[in-house]
Amino acid sequence: MATHPEKVFLHGTTSRKQVALTFDDGPDTEYTPQILDILGQMGVKATFFLKGVNIPGREWVVTRMIREGHLVANHSYSHQNLRKLSPKQISIEVQKTEALVEKITGRKTALLRPPYGEMSAEGLNSLVAAGYSMVNWSVDSGDWKANHSDQVLQNILSQAKAGSIILMHSAGGVGQDLTPSVEALEELIITLCNRGYEIVPLTSLLPAEAYQSGG
Ligand SMILES: [Zn+2]
Repeated sequence: MATHPEKVFLHGTTSRKQVALTFDDGPDTEYTPQILDILGQMGVKATFFLKGVNIPGREWVVTRMIREGHLVANHSYSHQNLRKLSPKQISIEVQKTEALVEKITGRKTALLRPPYGEMSAEGLNSLVAAGYSMVNWSVDSGDWKANHSDQVLQNILSQAKAGSIILMHSAGGVGQDLTPSVEALEELIITLCNRGYEIVPLTSLLPAEAYQSGG
């Protein structure tokens, strides 16, 4: 992903003591609402990278994200490895989720996190031309495979520094249990704040907009 360095991000500005929490693969009706509850209670704004196939029937969860001040971003429709798809197939994957989000929020997404962080050079070219920035991560919580909230906390707190983009999940695959992630969240926020970090929406950390301008 070296061809458009100004449109591909692994972390944000390191000049301020800020980090961003990002949650992938939602919406669901099990973990995502619990995460929204905690973020709301703690007054923290996060960014949700949505998997399009999870949206139909759960539009109310996306509405809730927007209403509560979070950013909504694109995580493709069916969560395939985009490096293995043609630029045309990639565009379809991204546009299907973009259309679902636009129907709910009236805004088109402009931030994409490709599944597994994988993207082909040709796909990147076409997405940048379509107004997208790619956002991966610098801190992996490993939350989907953690057995206990302490593991999630340890994974994040041992790596977090100024500009960190922290990868978590707000929905799991079949049989995946995100309880450790949900249980870690409050202590994570408190600890980051105690260490002097401000938790900000992704667009405060990056020179990028969350939504396409002009519709
Ligand atoms: Zn994902």
